[in-house]
Amino acid sequence: MAPAMSSLGGFWSGFWALQDAAEWIPFSAFLGGLVAFNRSDWSRNIHESLWSLSLPREKLAEAMATRTGAFGLYLYFGLYLSFAIIDAFQAPQWIVRHKVQNTKQPPPFRKSLRAIFWGMVESIPVLTIFNTFVVNPVWRQRIGMEKLMSIPSTWQCVSELVALQILNELIFYTVHRSMHTKLLYKLVHKMHHENITPFASSGNYAHPLETLLSTGLIVGIPIMLVVPHPSVLWFYTSWRNVESATAHCGYYIPGLCANTLFHDWHHRAFDGNYGFSPNLDYIFGTIHPKYPAWLANYRQERSQKVAAEENHDSMADLVDPYEESTDVKREI
Ligand SMILES: [Zn+2]
Ligand SMILES: [Zn+2]
Repeated sequence: MAPAMSSLGGFWSGFWALQDAAEWIPFSAFLGGLVAFNRSDWSRNIHESLWSLSLPREKLAEAMATRTGAFGLYLYFGLYLSFAIIDAFQAPQWIVRHKVQNTKQPPPFRKSLRAIFWGMVESIPVLTIFNTFVVNPVWRQRIGMEKLMSIPSTWQCVSELVALQILNELIFYTVHRSMHTKLLYKLVHKMHHENITPFASSGNYAHPLETLLSTGLIVGIPIMLVVPHPSVLWFYTSWRNVESATAHCGYYIPGLCANTLFHDWHHRAFDGNYGFSPNLDYIFGTIHPKYPAWLANYRQERSQKVAAEENHDSMADLVDPYEESTDVKREI
């Protein structure tokens, strides 16, 4: 094989080694859910009730965007409280047996509640102000009446949600990587890294400036650039809540959680793995040097565990290989 081909082959084999098809299921489910929703009477009824108000363009856009906030809030409390209860009671077993850092204690209930409360008094106000005065006015200004008065086609649902997600990933990677420069880390990002063993609501435990720069920009810029249909907006903001909660929740349940292993590692190692998914880190060479070996080990141990459970063998917890051989130093 020619050298160029062989290095290209090496590139792709390294790329695929970091992928887990099951991690694509949650986003695909949101995409499928968005398409199915807009093919249903449920969507038609919601849209027709809004259209019947006969509002001018900007007022109609505002009424539709308000539903986004409501969707996001239900998810915020529903998701984080559910994970707080799972952590506190260590049940049900089908979830807690997937704990990634399985030698670490789960967070006590009050710690999860403290992070949820912090989100209520800090993240929600900061994001509400940013969305009200920056993102929503730009989106309302740019969206046409024709789009507001239509139910999106399958192609429109897919293209808009995928474009939002790609931009979201690019901006998150850029902002998060810059947060790991010395000054920004000390002044802003250090607070988010207080939790070396992350849990769902710790995703929102961050300095207000980080909430603004990270969450505000990574959710807001794609919306202002893509100008999605309101129903795409509802699913996109909901997906962002789910992606952040599952990336931090500490349980990797294949098919239900996205980017858990990759971001969990970032919280342990303090550098590298800056994206939510490994794609951009792989391209820009910022995958943590110990992550590929840990991932290969984790997968092997997980398949052994599944085989042991199928054979009704010992259910004893396997030791996390990272705990055994850690020499990554905390760099603050
Ligand atoms: Zn970080
Ligand atoms: Zn995090």
